[in-house]
Amino acid sequence: ADQLDVAALGAWVREFARSIAEHKDALTELDSAIGDADHGANMDRGMSAAVAALEEKPPADPAALLKQVGMTLVSKVGGASGPLYGTFFLRMAGTLGPDPADAETFGRAVRAGLDGVIARGKAEPGDKTMLDALAPACDALDAALAAGQPLGEALAAAAQAARDGRDATVPLVARKGRASYLGERSAGHQDPGATSTALLLDAAVATLSG
Ligand code: ADP
Ligand code: MG
Ligand code: MG
Repeated sequence: ADQLDVAALGAWVREFARSIAEHKDALTELDSAIGDADHGANMDRGMSAAVAALEEKPPADPAALLKQVGMTLVSKVGGASGPLYGTFFLRMAGTLGPDPADAETFGRAVRAGLDGVIARGKAEPGDKTMLDALAPACDALDAALAAGQPLGEALAAAAQAARDGRDATVPLVARKGRASYLGERSAGHQDPGATSTALLLDAAVATLSG
């Protein structure tokens, strides 16, 4: 759709929740190698609660919806991923008004979300975190939209960049989060948060492409 309304963004959130549930064990498995084996459980708890909140209290507009998702993640997920994903959705909400978002507005919202994750977590690309998927995805989305591509193609480019960024975390040594406690031993493993972020972009392709 050219106009991302509350229904479209709700579908994105639901599809992300479904995909997280599907990949819950795989995400936890990745976190067992370089963390504390809870990333799948953390994300599934948070996104299940986010979907439950959508059903219980259907938000009226895009900003309200993304704010509700962000607040739910911050309050239900104790791990690093709760505040970070929560901040992403809250910052997106902060850039959106009550009206449906066009592609450019959506791109600006994703950029604001990325900036929020950076401000909150003080990591940068290359630190082996979710930013290694999110930052290249955001850059690819911006570049595609600036080149005049339709939202569906821009999202596909962003999702491909997220998957490439996820894969590129394997050889990296973690400099932020629990995995950084392992030092050099964190190399050789795919980052769990970059993996869930790639799923977030895949969910956007599936639901927001129009
Ligand atoms: P915890 O590490 O508290 O158990 P999770 O396992 O749910 O939380 O999430 C771990 C993921 O969070 C990591 O794989 C990484 O991608 C991400 N992460 C951790 N710290 C940061 C940070 N400072 N900035 C960005 N992402 C981070
Ligand atoms: Mg963990
Ligand atoms: Mg934990």
